Amino acid sequence: MALLTQVGIEVGYHRFLSHRAFSATKPIKVLLTVLGSMALQGPPIYWVATHRRHHRFSDRPGDIHSPHLVSPGRWSTLRGMWHAHLGWVLRLELTNTAVLAKDLMRDPLMVRLNRHYVWWLALGLAFPAVLGGVVTGTWSGAFFCFLWGGPVRIFLVQHLTYAVNSLGHSIGNRAYDTTERSTNNFWLAPFTLGGAWHNNHHAFPGSAATGLRWWQLDPGYRLIWALQKMGLVSQVKVPSREALRARWAASQTSDSASDDTENMEMD
Ligand SMILES: [Zn+2]
Ligand SMILES: [Zn+2]
Repeated sequence: MALLTQVGIEVGYHRFLSHRAFSATKPIKVLLTVLGSMALQGPPIYWVATHRRHHRFSDRPGDIHSPHLVSPGRWSTLRGMWHAHLGWVLRLELTNTAVLAKDLMRDPLMVRLNRHYVWWLALGLAFPAVLGGVVTGTWSGAFFCFLWGGPVRIFLVQHLTYAVNSLGHSIGNRAYDTTERSTNNFWLAPFTLGGAWHNNHHAFPGSAATGLRWWQLDPGYRLIWALQKMGLVSQVKVPSREALRARWAASQTSDSASDDTENMEMD
């Protein structure tokens, strides 16, 4: 369940719905959206609007989950990390879906899927319980499968996603000199299906792949690639070799200037 809902969030909600990094057949579109809904991270249209807002304002006022916008002072780093991780969720600051997810609101299928969000969520809780009950033939089997496949799994996946927001903008390596402060965290990449190559993602937000070098593990892209081979997804966008090389070269030459840019942003 954790793996399935991670696919729903990282491949479905994120790369497909938020960034349109590939096109999908109707069944795949429904499946990815339903799996994402089961993760209890909000209805698809709202998640997309919030995420696009993060990209539009990255680490500047207006970014809903930047770790760098807390008031200076005691524990500001920790307070920022907390806000980026879970604080922003609890704060309930609303994002305008009509502005940031207009395309999805005009899509009748997406609106229908979005409207039935609570049902997908319930399905994600019922499925492990029923499976556990059937396989073990006991009520306790049903209960423990519900517990681990439901609330525990939701908790785990939520924190992995939120770790990309908090750690992925504060700790780690910056391969590309992007305008915000995103980072790559190789150790988190396998557990986020490649989502933790977050600096790569900010450098190429429209790319279906976040692992941009052969050694950068990106299970989310492997899945998209396999679905493409099966004819279930198409128009998979990845940066050309030339684009990668040019972006990389630009980052190397602006290395000395990057500190200045960061200082200016903080001002
Ligand atoms: Zn980011
Ligand atoms: Zn994104």
